[in-house]
Amino acid sequence: MDYKAYFLEVKNWFEKIKLYTQSKRYDYEELEDSLKRMDFFINSIKEDEITENETISLQTLVKDINELLREGEKIEENSRQMVIPIGQHNLPPLPYNYNALEPHISNEIMKLHHDKHHQSYVDGLNRAEKMMQKARETNDFSMLKHWEREASFHGSGHYLHTLFWESMCPKGGGEPKGALMRQINRDFGNYNAFKKHFSEAAKQVEGSGWAILVWSPRPRRLEILQSEKHNNLTQWDTIPLLPLDVWEHAYYLQYKNNRGEYVDKWWNIVKWPAVEDRFGKAQKLQWKPV
Ligand code: MN
Repeated sequence: MDYKAYFLEVKNWFEKIKLYTQSKRYDYEELEDSLKRMDFFINSIKEDEITENETISLQTLVKDINELLREGEKIEENSRQMVIPIGQHNLPPLPYNYNALEPHISNEIMKLHHDKHHQSYVDGLNRAEKMMQKARETNDFSMLKHWEREASFHGSGHYLHTLFWESMCPKGGGEPKGALMRQINRDFGNYNAFKKHFSEAAKQVEGSGWAILVWSPRPRRLEILQSEKHNNLTQWDTIPLLPLDVWEHAYYLQYKNNRGEYVDKWWNIVKWPAVEDRFGKAQKLQWKPV
């Protein structure tokens, strides 16, 4: 093997790799380290006196960098896939059958609620996003107030329903555990006080809306909020953890005007592990306290 030729080939390759990784702006420590090592190593080698050992080290570094690059590509690809482009939200499938929450929520309600109502929020959000994009492109913002309102209404509708489905399951109920339960005790005194407050908030929503358990990152406390429609009264700083839909479409076919009974029965299908998981993730966010 011609060590010098190999070295020159690697040197050439590395120049291209450096340009490539700069254009990518990889935020990727391991790759950065390997690139620095390679840079240092190449500069320390005298090309006319290159040894077999140095060549073997070069080969190892080339292999490492190639592997790390492939990993970086994978990470980039994954984060690309996690982005939802403008106007391309989809209705997520229900995580269970339409009849799975019976007798507490009927098959008929779930089918209408998910397939018709939730779908219309997804469609409305997509349309609002596209229209706002069009406004930016044409520099015509005359209808902006309308589309902003639509984006808020349908966006909140879509996101809250997605959480709502995930927050329920057959044979749910009981009480939460772990960090969430400790936080509930800290912020509401005890679980029953929390449950009473949440139920009352749901029963007292004026017209259509939601009761929502939220994590408030600034004071680092749980709070219970009402939301009229989907978006009025929203506290934008918070992260919804457990929403309860009290629009009539969520219960009227089954409970008629007895929202209270629906709220009381609903506790039997709460999927606490999903809420605990969301709480854990939300807690990692740290706003600067003001
Ligand atoms: Mn609903």
